[in-house]
Amino acid sequence: MSGFTSFLPSYDASPEENAQYLRQTLPLMMKNNISADPINYAIWYEYVSGNNARLKKELDELLHLNQQITTEQSIELYKKHVCNASVESFEKINTELQKILNDTTQSVGLASDKVSKAEASFNHSAHELESANSNDDIKSVLSQVLAETKLLAETSQILKSKLDEANEEMDQMRQELTLVREVAVTDALTGLLNRRAFDDILSDLVEQSTTQKNFCLAILDLDHFKKINDSFGHLTGDKVLRYTAGIMKQKVAENHFAARYGGEEMAVIMPDTDLQAASRVIENIRTTLEKNRLKRKGDGESIGKVTLSAGVASFKPGDSVDTLIEKADNSLYQAKTNGRNQVVAL
Ligand code: GH3
Ligand code: MG
Ligand code: MG
Repeated sequence: MSGFTSFLPSYDASPEENAQYLRQTLPLMMKNNISADPINYAIWYEYVSGNNARLKKELDELLHLNQQITTEQSIELYKKHVCNASVESFEKINTELQKILNDTTQSVGLASDKVSKAEASFNHSAHELESANSNDDIKSVLSQVLAETKLLAETSQILKSKLDEANEEMDQMRQELTLVREVAVTDALTGLLNRRAFDDILSDLVEQSTTQKNFCLAILDLDHFKKINDSFGHLTGDKVLRYTAGIMKQKVAENHFAARYGGEEMAVIMPDTDLQAASRVIENIRTTLEKNRLKRKGDGESIGKVTLSAGVASFKPGDSVDTLIEKADNSLYQAKTNGRNQVVAL
């Protein structure tokens, strides 16, 4: 049952090798105008390390086209060749589980055969004991029984260790499965739910809308974020995104879902929450962000006030996913046109 493969990337390069990869990776990414976010870095790290032939081939083909590599293409490369958190991963886990089940069933079957044989042998010994005429006869039957008992104990020991082994493998797989599931729904940059998870949750809620009376959706968008990128660099922009996501995680309720909707837009799905309560949650996020003055790590240069605008909409009977998003988007648009750094709820 060995040979269990991990579905998450694992790295065993030495610190010196990694430093060397870093020196090679960043210039290559800059040359190809690739944003140095964690997904992209993982892709280009694999490319430079030369340990991932399929990824290298596909990336070389993309580079050959002489076109800007899009975020979607990066995510596809990542999912396909770096972290295989996809249907294939689940299929592999399924195959492994099937194998463990088969092996275990076989071991139990063998043990059960041996137990049946031992039972027959004990019955036979019992008969022999009944008709035993001398001490020697009794001794001989007893030694047979002892030998059979020893065999049985060994069989049970082997079965126990097989079952322990299977249990351990299943535990390992359970952990992997949890991680794979988590990776599949998480946005790598911010740690919020990703767009796919957002879409799934929202459409489930809309489908169950008869039992979901009060539920709201908010879309949040950082103000003049392009300026932050232009003035302080994309990496600092990424940190601002992570920072904002951190505030969101802190401020939303346990039953809310905070997601990265796309680029510098985030969203919060709020089941069992009316428009007033939903607006308070988002207003709390907005004021917390506004209050904190961010500094660039390293030189300590102030990034100044970072603000966001948000639109909140409540689900009404007859709404679809699209109309609900449209309502939240319209509110957001109003917040922007009213001067930004505000929450509009309709
Ligand atoms: P507004 O107040 O109207 O929203 O202005 P804005 O500059 O925020 O809006 P715009 O949509 O013009 O710009 C959004 C910018 O966000 C452009 C894009 O480069 C940047 N962006 C999108 N995704 C990321 C990311 O993952 N990291 C970084 N650093 N920037 C990103
Ligand atoms: Mg935007
Ligand atoms: Mg913006």
